[in-house]
Amino acid sequence: MSEKVNLALLGGTKAVDQENNDMFKWPIITDEDEAAALQVLRDGAMSGTDITIKFEREFAEWLNMDYALAFNNGTNSLLGAFYGCKIGVGDEIICPSITYWASALPAYTLGASVVYAEIDPVTLCIDPKDIEHRITERTKAIVVVHYLGYPADMDEIMEIAKRHNIKVIEDVSHAQGGYYKGRRVGTIGDVGAMSLMAGKSFAIGEGGIFVTNDREIYERAIAFGHYERYNDSIQTEYLRSSLGLPLGGYKFRMHQVSSAVGRVQLKYYDQRIQEIDKAMNYFWDQLEGVPGLRAHRPAKDSGSTMGGWYATHGHYVPEEIGGLSVTRFCEAVQAEGVPIGPGCNLPLHLHPLQHEVDVYGHGKPTVIANADRDLRQPKGSLPVSENIAARLYSLPWFKHNRTDVIDRYVEAFRKAALGYEALLPGDPGNPDTIGGWNFFRQRATR
Ligand SMILES: *Cc1c(COP(=O)(O)O)cnc(C)c1O
Repeated sequence: MSEKVNLALLGGTKAVDQENNDMFKWPIITDEDEAAALQVLRDGAMSGTDITIKFEREFAEWLNMDYALAFNNGTNSLLGAFYGCKIGVGDEIICPSITYWASALPAYTLGASVVYAEIDPVTLCIDPKDIEHRITERTKAIVVVHYLGYPADMDEIMEIAKRHNIKVIEDVSHAQGGYYKGRRVGTIGDVGAMSLMAGKSFAIGEGGIFVTNDREIYERAIAFGHYERYNDSIQTEYLRSSLGLPLGGYKFRMHQVSSAVGRVQLKYYDQRIQEIDKAMNYFWDQLEGVPGLRAHRPAKDSGSTMGGWYATHGHYVPEEIGGLSVTRFCEAVQAEGVPIGPGCNLPLHLHPLQHEVDVYGHGKPTVIANADRDLRQPKGSLPVSENIAARLYSLPWFKHNRTDVIDRYVEAFRKAALGYEALLPGDPGNPDTIGGWNFFRQRATR
């Protein structure tokens, strides 16, 4: 039964009637960040590597890893990781279709192809049951994304990878600092690559980094795009004959305003995401049992966490609230004063780039330029990924555990879910496409 609630969309009063900008402001920048950034500018050290190398050491120490390598963005940290794992012409990687494009597309730069796998509808991460049958003798790696902060099923994935002797590359761009059964995400696979751009939970400005315990992966990535460090320090024998020039023809160096700010952010990061974790868990605890709404978070006693809850979303179960579309639900929450929206990243396997675009002049679509068969995946081939957007909505991303403020937001979601009957008559249904290719950029600050 629908409750009689005074929905703002239908003329009632808003649940959230004031701006709470301070609750959402991110990253938190203090005098210490400002001083660190200014020092780089005053020293003219923007293009150096001394501060970046300190940042790398501290970052590796934080995650208890042997090596960290910084990049100018997360996309290139993934490209460096791919090259590090020897992904090359004709090879294949397996990647979930629901992710930001940079988890997959750098493979094409290397002449490799991407085979997309399904996501699990609960974790929203790659479904371990949909991996093994996609492995061929050309498969070099599985890319795992801890999507929207949720740690992927690493135990199962690592077992599959070991069985087939392939690498596991973790894309940690949504989950820096998170735990999977007590272990930090990004430290379980062969290499953990991530974005540190200003919208992410570990936010330093344009930047990326990877961590690994594998010296060869680390040194191959240096050789590929860090010419100034491709020097006598390299120990991998076969890389020593071509020191000095970047093998990939790329320059991946991090801007030192980013690494200087990164060093400061790192000092406070665990403490700040603990506060986020408390706030977001409080929000969901209050919504426990409200029909139609389910948290996207691991069980409390699992040893797994959501890290900084980057781009966090909620599950939507329309069957429980009269089939109300997520589009209409979000309209109602918005009217309550909460700027959220439906959907998530669009499934990559359906984009025209994955079907027809000849990027490099191979005379055939780039996605199959070096493949031994037609790898293109048509509409209908990954049904969970193709239909998940209608069952997800974005959430307010609280940075402080101020329960009196959070209660107002809880009320907005409660009202929209419990008042569903009054919303059904004006429900336009969902459009054909929910979300967009640049989905998170559009609301990076919320
Ligand atoms: C943001 C993001 C990246 C790319 O990082 P940039 O720093 O923007 O280049 C890669 N993977 C995922 C999952 C991301 O969300």
